[in-house]
Amino acid sequence: MNKEFLKKASLLLLLVLPTLALAQAEEEEIPENYDSWNHLALNIALISAALGLLIALGYFIKLTTTKGSKDKYDFISKHEISTLWFAVVFIIISGCFFANSNITHLTPVLIGVRLFISVAMALIVAVIIQTLLKFYYPFYIEKRLKVLRYKPRISAKTGKPMRLLSEEEEDVYLDEGKQAEENVFSVDYDVWIGENGDDIQIEKYAGHLHALQCPECNYQTFKIVKEEVLKQPTGTEDGERMLHYKCGYCGYTAKKSEVMKRQTKVEQHSATA
Ligand SMILES: [Zn+2]
Repeated sequence: MNKEFLKKASLLLLLVLPTLALAQAEEEEIPENYDSWNHLALNIALISAALGLLIALGYFIKLTTTKGSKDKYDFISKHEISTLWFAVVFIIISGCFFANSNITHLTPVLIGVRLFISVAMALIVAVIIQTLLKFYYPFYIEKRLKVLRYKPRISAKTGKPMRLLSEEEEDVYLDEGKQAEENVFSVDYDVWIGENGDDIQIEKYAGHLHALQCPECNYQTFKIVKEEVLKQPTGTEDGERMLHYKCGYCGYTAKKSEVMKRQTKVEQHSATA
């Protein structure tokens, strides 16, 4: 995305530079009153800024009114970065128009210069903010997501906190489909259970959507890109799978093998009992 941006930036500069050169060729003052332009630019700037702020505000209102830690978790991981980026784009556009809303004097050269500086500044700011959102902001997001994932759930029946089961305990509550899914993909099911065991809450977390800290560059951009099953687990034996990770920032790749639990643990329990 970053490289793409730089490419776009240089393309735009290439487009703007000839305009500048052309403009220089015929340097003459355009005798006009710029009030209507200034007025228009200021209005566009204000509307654009308002839209940016509304988008950000709308997001935070939606987030604070979202009930339940799991729903909040999903909402943040799906929408926060893209929404913030969207808001930032409007604010940048607003800045560009605002910076050009006080024109008193204009020549074709000045139009070129203003256009060039506005576009260049906008791109620089955009690249900086995008980098922050993509590589630094995820640390902050992951911290909040972790809190949300492990925050004790409150039972809707008793109003009391529930307990998170361990990997071993939870299998009893996961049907075969879910167990198989946990085995085939890096999907995690969290099982929360109420005091008396009557209230059960099952939450699904997809591993490939979740970024880890890259061991090479330390950014929170290390993700599962491929999973392969080396050995299918059977009813009696554990299997094995290989997880392929790739860093979205520095491109560092790594493999990690993982044990796939024996399937149909529930049946085994009853068989041994
Ligand atoms: Zn990296």
